[in-house]
Amino acid sequence: MDFTQAKQRIEELKAVLWENSRKYYVANAPTMSDYEYDQLMHELEDLESRYPEYRTPDSPTQRVGSDLEEGPQAENAEPLVGREFPKYPHKYPMLSLSNTYSVAEVEEFVERAVKTLDTSFTYCCELKFDGTAICLTYRDGKLFRALTRGDGVMGDDVTENARHIAGIPHTLQGTGWPAEFEIRGEVLMPFASFDRLNHERELEEEAPFANPRNAASGSLKLLDAQEVGRRGLICTLYHIPTGQVDYPTHDESLRAAASWGLPVSDERRICHDIEGIEAYIAHWDTARKELPFATDGIVIKINEMAYQRQLGYTAKSPRWAVAYKFKAEEALTPILSIDYQVGRTGAVTPVANLEPVLLSGTMVKRATLVNEDQMRQLDIHEGDWVYVEKGGEIIPKITGVELSRRAPEAARPAFPTVCPDCGTPLVKPEGEAKWFCPDTDGCPTQIKGKLVHFLSRKAMNVLAGEATVEQFYNLGLVRTPADLYDLHAGQLLMLEGWKEKSAKRFLDSLHESRNVPFERVLYAIGIRYVGETTARDVARHFGDVDAIAAASKEELLAVPEVGDVIAESIWNYFRNERNGVEIQRLKAAGLQFSVKAAGRKAASDALAGKTIVISGNFSISRDDMKALIEANGGKNSGSVSSKTAFLLAGEKPGPEKLKKAAALGIPVLSEAGFRALIPGQEAPEASIEKFEPTLF
Ligand code: NAD
Repeated sequence: MDFTQAKQRIEELKAVLWENSRKYYVANAPTMSDYEYDQLMHELEDLESRYPEYRTPDSPTQRVGSDLEEGPQAENAEPLVGREFPKYPHKYPMLSLSNTYSVAEVEEFVERAVKTLDTSFTYCCELKFDGTAICLTYRDGKLFRALTRGDGVMGDDVTENARHIAGIPHTLQGTGWPAEFEIRGEVLMPFASFDRLNHERELEEEAPFANPRNAASGSLKLLDAQEVGRRGLICTLYHIPTGQVDYPTHDESLRAAASWGLPVSDERRICHDIEGIEAYIAHWDTARKELPFATDGIVIKINEMAYQRQLGYTAKSPRWAVAYKFKAEEALTPILSIDYQVGRTGAVTPVANLEPVLLSGTMVKRATLVNEDQMRQLDIHEGDWVYVEKGGEIIPKITGVELSRRAPEAARPAFPTVCPDCGTPLVKPEGEAKWFCPDTDGCPTQIKGKLVHFLSRKAMNVLAGEATVEQFYNLGLVRTPADLYDLHAGQLLMLEGWKEKSAKRFLDSLHESRNVPFERVLYAIGIRYVGETTARDVARHFGDVDAIAAASKEELLAVPEVGDVIAESIWNYFRNERNGVEIQRLKAAGLQFSVKAAGRKAASDALAGKTIVISGNFSISRDDMKALIEANGGKNSGSVSSKTAFLLAGEKPGPEKLKKAAALGIPVLSEAGFRALIPGQEAPEASIEKFEPTLF
């Protein structure tokens, strides 16, 4: 390679790495595997060391990847108010770690340390938690500030969100903590929370998070701290920057942190040599698959603080630590066929059916091909043998094609030009990566998808699922949500699988949905891009449906969080005559179409005079639970006191509230117990499946 070629390749690599760094840190939607990214980074490091004249301070090899939307900023004692979070400088820079996928390079790290330090010392080996970094400051024993890593110099202030993450203490316990200190660690989304979140996102046709790391990072930057609490994040802390506490070793400083009630993993080990380190790596290479959260490697740190100081830092990472990364498990398997699935919004997604293959402990049979561009990029041909990887151990993703196994006559699959369901020619709106079936009112899959969404728990919460919708649709009984409210018992009893009991349950629950607050009705009618939160904000901003229908795009843009795309979508929805007719029919059926009307509706006085504290997660949102309390005459309070009538505890209630209730002798009620107090409330255990008519 001559100088010109080297310069050109360096520029190419820088551009690709910056672009992918933005996708990874800011958009939380990487399109390249970590391994590929790291290989390109190593190629750049290598070229820059051979051609140092082309190494610039802005090279990705010299800076930590930034999660700040506006990019790096100057250090400033005052918060710089960005689009979302105030920004503060870090007291000590938050750096990355040099990483390797090879044990031989870990050996080199050890050899270098032995040679440089030339004395006896130990290593602290830890899990490399695959989440998003956080820096917590405690002042006088209280959580004072939580910052993201940002660009390493400045971080986003996410203190309010951190207060809603399980395990981050608001107040320290024990003794001996410094008046003020920083501690760093990782915010993680356990697999169980990740699966739940992605399942919900799929139902809502929102793009699922690629892996728990991206989900944790996206969740930490949400604007609604209550929602952060619901995401089921956890935190583990692993580093108190040097000079803040006076312990001779890193391990001892973490032990002290644990004694102050801070969440510190006890999976770390002190090793004395490379054999010990390799045994630790070998153990966790397998054992990590049993952990309830994602790890992507092992971190090996020099344990003695004095030697850490001696070794110091490069511009990007400490010289006293190295990360050994596990390569994501990969499998090679042939594509049997490709399905083109139509969703509720008409988006067409290609999905590959694979010869089943075992990957990270589960049998993988299908993998998404995302969209036509992705298929083209991978250059997929029919019958190709493809590499399948589990991003963050969870979602199977096709990462490449094994060309040597491609049959010579294999053709590129033709992406459909018409809807595979209804035959309408597909369209690709400007700015969209997917093809869409435009027949929103006639395409059976879209119609059924919209009905299922309308009935779903977070929308109208009616006891009916996909099978019921399928049955109603196939018999021509229901085409739009308003048709549901015209159904009567006599009709249902003539249908296969329906008995008096199931018909009554369904109709009762449909009747009950007339009390669902306007914000959820607005979400239920399925305006494109209007998720739960947007629906709530828009409903509260305008107060009723007529005001929304009459609003100009500019007026819609005045709602916080509503941007051009959402404003355009809402505006268009209300310009469609059919939608106007549907809203009128739903209004006539008695659904709530104004915030006030919903608020005024006192359901009962069963809780009159009672002050209630809620804690944990329920079958409905916490806001809805509070509204339910108020609608039945109760009062909500944030803290348990002697005046509290009872503590309503959902899933994962706050331990502090439970403790206080126990100390004051305040009764604790489960959701089921609570609902039993209110007339006409279904037991929360009632699941949609139980009431599918086919099961009776
Ligand atoms: P990193 O994730 O490789 O390592 C540093 C981070 O590890 C620290 O910031 C800390 O948050 C975390 N960590 C977890 N456990 C730790 C422990 N016990 N002790 C200390 N730190 C611990 O580095 P990074 O700078 O956050 O990210 C760079 C990496 O991100 C790249 O190597 C690449 O794998 C990935 N990346 C991927 C893409 C992509 O497109 N796929 C793009 C950009 C970056």
